[in-house]
Amino acid sequence: MTTTVAPLRAEIDPADRAANLSRAFVDASALEILDVAINREFQGEIALVSSFGAESAVLLHLLAQVAPDTPVLFIDTQKHFAQTPFYRRKLAKELGLTNVQDLLPDQREVEAEDPGGDLWRSNPDACCTLRKVRPLNTALSRYGAWITGRKQFHGGERLSLPVFEHKGDHFKVNPIVSWTPDDVEAYFEAHQLPQHPLVGQGFPSIGCWPCTHPVAPGEDVRAGRWRGKAKTECGIHRS
Ligand code: SF4
Repeated sequence: MTTTVAPLRAEIDPADRAANLSRAFVDASALEILDVAINREFQGEIALVSSFGAESAVLLHLLAQVAPDTPVLFIDTQKHFAQTPFYRRKLAKELGLTNVQDLLPDQREVEAEDPGGDLWRSNPDACCTLRKVRPLNTALSRYGAWITGRKQFHGGERLSLPVFEHKGDHFKVNPIVSWTPDDVEAYFEAHQLPQHPLVGQGFPSIGCWPCTHPVAPGEDVRAGRWRGKAKTECGIHRS
């Protein structure tokens, strides 16, 4: 007689595990998703990655309610608008986030690959790899999963994002993937969250200063990112 034994979680194919979780939590609240990710599925091996941009306060406020000591990784490209590091410090303090970490590019690599600081002009993909992808990959080697604030309404490759994904060596958790612009705005108002200073100047999506432009009414949220170039993503979600 044979006995069927349910596979241990570690034996489940990671892509299947992510798909199962997405099905189970497709209608769950963002708080429930964060709670299950941080306190059950990926306990002790998960970080949140935040740009401290236009909509970041929502996810960070949700995180502060679940586990304010969760590592929050901020990629400091050294090309941010001056307002962004200011906003990063203000939000961390006001929300009580106790473990925000700044990820800087390797300075030897910067000297070798971008000595003039204008690589963004000639080769933005290489610049993003140097200043974003590699520092994040180094930091994420300490974790098995990370939390993102991506949303389907951002369009492009984000239109079909699930709640849980598995890519490369990591799980990714997208707790507010199905939120609409109205949801985001309502959450800001309900919790009196401070806006990034550039939002009021026409920047609904905020990255590095050389590659972020204001957006006209009616344009896509991310239309000002790498405006005029085919590039639409920095590459951290492809690695
Ligand atoms: S967004 Fe622009 S400046 Fe920032 S890392 Fe990418 S190419 Fe460089």
